Amino acid sequence: MPARPAPPGFPVSHNIPVFAEGIAGAEILARQRVHAERYGARILAGTVTALDRSPGHFSAIIEGPEAPTRPTYARRVLLATGAEDIEPDLPDLPDAVRRGLVRYCPICDGYEARGRRIAVIGHGDRGMGEAIFIARTYSSDVTLLTLGQRMELSDEQRERLAQHGVKLVEAPIQALDVQDGRITALRPRQGEEYRFDILYSALGLQCRSGLGSALGARLDGSGALLVDAHNRTTVPGLYAAGGTVRGLDQIVVAMGHAAIAATHIHNHCEIPTEDEPREEA
Ligand SMILES: Cc1cc2nc3c(=O)[nH]c(=O)nc-3n(C[C@H](O)[C@H](O)[C@H](O)COP(=O)(O)OP(=O)(O)OC[C@H]3O[C@@H](n4cnc5c(N)ncnc54)[C@H](O)[C@@H]3O)c2cc1C
Repeated sequence: MPARPAPPGFPVSHNIPVFAEGIAGAEILARQRVHAERYGARILAGTVTALDRSPGHFSAIIEGPEAPTRPTYARRVLLATGAEDIEPDLPDLPDAVRRGLVRYCPICDGYEARGRRIAVIGHGDRGMGEAIFIARTYSSDVTLLTLGQRMELSDEQRERLAQHGVKLVEAPIQALDVQDGRITALRPRQGEEYRFDILYSALGLQCRSGLGSALGARLDGSGALLVDAHNRTTVPGLYAAGGTVRGLDQIVVAMGHAAIAATHIHNHCEIPTEDEPREEA
């Protein structure tokens, strides 16, 4: 079925193979739901509030209007709980995200921002790296707003910023505002204003790895679930895919993880669990 056009002004993803014209996130989810149900998947809306493991199975407590009143049991579990972007303190943020004024992933959609006036909110190596990436590839007008954090830059780092024409604003920003489709950053006292077309937030991500870590799954230093080449966590029978696993935070990467995990789960679902004899590595 052809992709339904997103409402005017809504951002669409242009880095999903096959959808060269772009596809909206909501449309991807709607299609995925239809696809999964056609092949027999049952989708329950709800939040998994607890996940336990007993010999031979996992049990999940699910809460929500459609949720079963009893625990749901499974021999294998694939966690695809994603990650949360650490968001800038910006009034009306959801609306600004919907309108494509605030973005999180220049590797995904920097192409759409080419030639625009761009601010990157961030600091440290991550903020500097993202500002230089955008300046090197998409725009010659990039400002790094550190929101009052001092950047301890070496001479070499200062030179790199200068080489790519990245302006550095280390002063605190009193307010960020969206007016007439543009973003305005206000400095305290001086009353100075900066205006941008697009703001990229480079404040980082927090993996939603709590269900896995509560079961004892190992995390890396960033809080992401550690997985092996089959996307297995360190807890037998527990797999993880997508944003909750360290790696490039992109839709196709999450799909790839899920395909790897699903293949392993499928290939092992008729044989005993890890707690039973004859389990293969
Ligand atoms: C504004 C924005 C634009 C983006 N644009 C692009 C783009 O153009 N191209 C691209 O490739 N990537 C893009 N990304 C990144 C992309 O969204 C992620 O890489 C991708 O969604 C990761 O998929 P996931 O399934 O791992 O996690 P998610 O898509 O985050 O899905 C995780 C789901 O699990 C649910 N969940 C979490 N905990 C529980 C629980 N305990 N019980 C039940 N459900 C739970 C969450 O509510 C969520 O629905 C964008 C991200 C943002 C924020």
